[in-house]
Amino acid sequence: METTRTVTVAIIGAGPRGISVLERLAANWAALPEGNRPRTTVHLVEPYEPGPGHVWRTDQSRHFLMNTPALFPTVVPVGEAAAGRAPSLVPVSFDHWRQRMVDSPDSRLSDDDRKELQSLTFADFPSRALYGRYLEWIYSSLTGALGEGFKVVVHRSEAQHVEPLTAGFRVRLSGGGAVVSDAVVLALGHLPAQLNPEQEALRDGAARLGLQYWPPNVPADADWNRLPARKTVLVRGLGLNFFDIITHLTEGRGGNFVSSGLPAGRALDYHPSGREPLVVAASRRGTPYRAKAKLDSYVPRSIQLRYCTPTRASRFAAEGIQPGFDHDLWPLLHRDAVWAYYGTLARTAGLPDAFLPSLQDVLDDADQVWRRRLEELLDGTVAPADRLDLESLASPFRRHRFASEEEYNRAVLDYLEEDAAGSDRGENDPLKMAIGAMNAGRSVIKEIVADGGLTEASWTAELRGWFEPLVEGLASGPPALRIEQLAALARSGIVRFAGPAPRFELDAALGRFTVSSPWVEGGKYDAGVLVEAMMPANRVSQNRSVLLRRLLEDGLVRARTMMSEDGVPEVSPGIDVSKPPYRAIGANGLAQENLYVLGLQLSSVQWGTAIAAEAGASLDAGSRTLRDADDIARAILA
Ligand SMILES: Cc1cc2nc3c(=O)[nH]c(=O)nc-3n(C[C@H](O)[C@H](O)[C@H](O)COP(=O)(O)OP(=O)(O)OC[C@H]3O[C@@H](n4cnc5c(N)ncnc54)[C@H](O)[C@@H]3O)c2cc1C
Repeated sequence: METTRTVTVAIIGAGPRGISVLERLAANWAALPEGNRPRTTVHLVEPYEPGPGHVWRTDQSRHFLMNTPALFPTVVPVGEAAAGRAPSLVPVSFDHWRQRMVDSPDSRLSDDDRKELQSLTFADFPSRALYGRYLEWIYSSLTGALGEGFKVVVHRSEAQHVEPLTAGFRVRLSGGGAVVSDAVVLALGHLPAQLNPEQEALRDGAARLGLQYWPPNVPADADWNRLPARKTVLVRGLGLNFFDIITHLTEGRGGNFVSSGLPAGRALDYHPSGREPLVVAASRRGTPYRAKAKLDSYVPRSIQLRYCTPTRASRFAAEGIQPGFDHDLWPLLHRDAVWAYYGTLARTAGLPDAFLPSLQDVLDDADQVWRRRLEELLDGTVAPADRLDLESLASPFRRHRFASEEEYNRAVLDYLEEDAAGSDRGENDPLKMAIGAMNAGRSVIKEIVADGGLTEASWTAELRGWFEPLVEGLASGPPALRIEQLAALARSGIVRFAGPAPRFELDAALGRFTVSSPWVEGGKYDAGVLVEAMMPANRVSQNRSVLLRRLLEDGLVRARTMMSEDGVPEVSPGIDVSKPPYRAIGANGLAQENLYVLGLQLSSVQWGTAIAAEAGASLDAGSRTLRDADDIARAILA
């Protein structure tokens, strides 16, 4: 007998995560026996185009590149991740799509898309606009493949209020409409955030003095043409947004990077257009994010984790122990980083044959002794300057005083040139391979710590406290080309660096922003413009989304509270949710039936919620977000 059941779902946010939920709903629906398929209507609420959404708009500048290579991302399960789940109607990762579009280009590809596709390989870093085109294609191919009885209705609006009804919800839209549904999925992604008190003071002071203060932003949202040419511009932050901004202000203003004929690190010269500002940049660490190594895989082919394996790392839980990061997980990953470093050094620098078996013996030893034994092994074999010093990677200029800003800028340039050269060595660079091991370990750790797999104190103080900034700065950096370009800009004097632990201030007497570093003698810069090169904070309690604020006020959702190291409860960045499928927990402490959460707002139960799903990776680790989408879809259709 045919089912008469109907299902109506509102997915709020149709960027990658929202599209994954739609795709999983369609796949699970199609996998049901024909007579059991409920008549299903999915309302997609999204002010931007469904698929690309806000972040991956197809009309953004091609200067904005992804920081993951073409072989990496997907929004649908492919390979290992697809096993045992309802088959996708469009089982196409970004890289499959790239190959398809080269062989038979879609009519909607723009000239710029076609041009980019001509030279893009699986190991290159696509523009965000092109990734947006893939997302757009997935969305339209998916909706084109839907069966009778499964309907998608798009609302190009912002959802502003979710009101619980006796059964289901009413979602109120900007512009006045509303949608009534049985279930709501919050896939809100990157949201605007309130400024912190220091940023507010800078903004207000700038308004009083007629200066320009640029708050944290998605780079494609800002009009960089408003920054003055040939004037000093202060930039806070040396992470991914910094590289976007710099590219826009240089190549984007007609400057050219040309080959110098010299080796990596000094391989480019910059020919200015004369319309660039003079950028003075700084961050707490004092060095930019490191470049990705040049590889033909996501995890280096020479890296095989030996210690931080899923089996070893899950043993704690199997024995009834909730692990701590510093005490239990880091010692495993630390060994892998050491093994990767010296294994590569042994291969490339020709260490004695006995070295690696001895190293393995040392690393297999107990936590208390292996580090001492490692030093003993290295003495006489590896010169101190060639050893791995993880602590100095966290802050390369730690406690180093620079006598002048010239001396500091020289040190940063050396650092950039060496980093670009290391990336160029790829699998043959010991440091990049140690970083590769840490990056590979990230996936394992992501799986282990999810859903209460780590003590709360360790989560806040250790995992997010020191490890996350370290591994982000080392392994989440830009393509090598960007560091090579930055070195060229530093040599040309267009970019200068102010120093570690910088103090950005507004000098009312001078009527200017200033920046200086306590570690650099004499280097104080002033400017009429200060740019925050960072994303708005991903904190539920700090967001400026009308919808999320209303959800919090109405008690339909709440921020998760976690216990700090000192035993004091702290408001964490994410929404409080039940175990998967993630239902929002309301102010009354109860899970809200049929109100689901996916993506960035899960940052208090999962680690690494922003990155795209990794094509072919396990649903428990690299493709975890696809499993979450699948769990939600199945719960809705159940
Ligand atoms: C600039 C930038 C570059 C990045 N680069 C990479 C990269 O190279 N590789 C990688 O793996 N990851 C990258 N990321 C991480 C990124 O988080 C993910 O790739 C992905 O975009 C997350 O998808 P999402 O759907 O959760 O969030 P989003 O992409 O932010 O999509 C959420 C959508 O929800 C919509 N929305 C929000 N509130 C409402 C509302 N009230 N009503 C209706 N719609 C709403 C928004 O308009 C948006 O389209 C990048 C992120 C940013 C911001």
